[in-house]
Amino acid sequence: MTATDVLPRVVIVGRPNVGKSSLFNRVLGERRAIVEDEPGTTRDRLEADVEWLDRRFRLIDTGGYETNEQNVYAPLIMGQVQQAINTAAVVIFVVDARDGLTASDYDMAEVVRRAQKPTILVANKADNEARELTGIAEASALGFGEPLPVSALHDVNVRTMLDMVVALLPDIPLIPESDRTRVAIIGRPNVGKSMLVNAILGQERVIVSDVAGTTRDAIDTEIDTPEGSFVLIDTAGVRRPGKLGTGVERHSVLRTTRAVERCDVAVLVVDGTEGVTAQDTHIAGIAVENAKGLVIAVNKIDLWDDPAERKAWAERQMRSRIRFVPWALYTFISALERRGLSELLQLVQTAREARRRRIPTPELNAVLARAIREHVPPLVHNKRFKLFYATQAGIDPPTFVLFVNDPELVHFSYRRYLERAIREAADFEGTAIKLVFRARS
Ligand code: GDP
Ligand code: GDP
Repeated sequence: MTATDVLPRVVIVGRPNVGKSSLFNRVLGERRAIVEDEPGTTRDRLEADVEWLDRRFRLIDTGGYETNEQNVYAPLIMGQVQQAINTAAVVIFVVDARDGLTASDYDMAEVVRRAQKPTILVANKADNEARELTGIAEASALGFGEPLPVSALHDVNVRTMLDMVVALLPDIPLIPESDRTRVAIIGRPNVGKSMLVNAILGQERVIVSDVAGTTRDAIDTEIDTPEGSFVLIDTAGVRRPGKLGTGVERHSVLRTTRAVERCDVAVLVVDGTEGVTAQDTHIAGIAVENAKGLVIAVNKIDLWDDPAERKAWAERQMRSRIRFVPWALYTFISALERRGLSELLQLVQTAREARRRRIPTPELNAVLARAIREHVPPLVHNKRFKLFYATQAGIDPPTFVLFVNDPELVHFSYRRYLERAIREAADFEGTAIKLVFRARS
């Protein structure tokens, strides 16, 4: 595989004559965009490697499909365009800023919408940056937020467009993609982590494997269960004898952090006879900071004399002491008696599914626009936060990029409000989600 094969692909689409090829060539001519030179003339080139802000991607001009051969008929072109979109990490959807929208624009919007890729809507031919142009006003109706006015001809906002592209490029995954759910079992000493791991492992097919690239004593365990296939992360750390000396506490926080970094979903074990302690809250924070899934397992319920009363008590404690994670899932277990293990693993899978969920861009923008209408953002230094456009840039964790006038204007509480709005639009129970604010002119 060459480097080019693994570069994320950025695909320029739009109906004929909106200026796709002109934009493509403008990017290639942009001094700050380092373009890989290939044999062949620039004019006929349909793809090029571009580097912008230290990120590299392959830019594809689907305009070339139309002009290469004059007599190809439309369905064939659309098939090629669709294929290009399917391979895209980011789509640049071009409309004409001066013309009104045509039926072809709507057809293209439908194709783009169905692909559910992060999409940047640009209105080209905004030569003098006049935002009153018909095409710009109408383009908002396509469901991809307010278009970015650009001019390929006069080099207006092309850099901003590239900034947006880079903001939406996927991070290079640290962990190889696998269907197994990666679970870290975490918690303070003596809550029953080892017993839980042994209870899960005790009854299932187990493959213990050393972890490449980590300390030699980190051991991951693969396990297949009726609830799904999992990797239990760093079981060696969990199964370590519980007798801790001085300095070990710090080491175990480090170890927890490392395990959490490598997991999809963290299972926080708390001692059901003691309730939620400050240390439990702190450990939950590690999962939240790393934007992971979180399931709380309240353990040792076999010791509860009045289960109904204790359950309500534990729930109250979680609501108040882990209230910064209202999306966390929880369940009640006894590692000793192997009760509740199946429910626990099911919740882990639920959290994992939530991490892979996507909201279509038009729906996301509609939801956020409504939220902002219903609760107008407060003025900060006499300026008001304005959202141009939002899109889901990735999964694992679900990551949303919001292009706004000024990221500094987004208050912590307003950010929480927008996060809640996104969570109401799709089920992200069990997982952290990320909101990234980017400035756009
Ligand atoms: P494509 O079919 O989408 O690839 O469009 P082209 O890049 O071939 O451009 C179609 C026409 O629009 C050409 O005549 C271009 O010169 C013109 N054009 C492209 N970009 C701009 C622009 O920013 N401003 C103006 N005024 N014309 C443009
Ligand atoms: P770790 O330090 O979190 O790994 O905790 P351990 O698994 O070593 O368990 C600590 C203590 O709690 C041991 O004495 C276990 O026998 C006990 N324990 C763990 N799980 C349960 C449970 O579900 N019920 C009861 N009654 N005791 C448990």
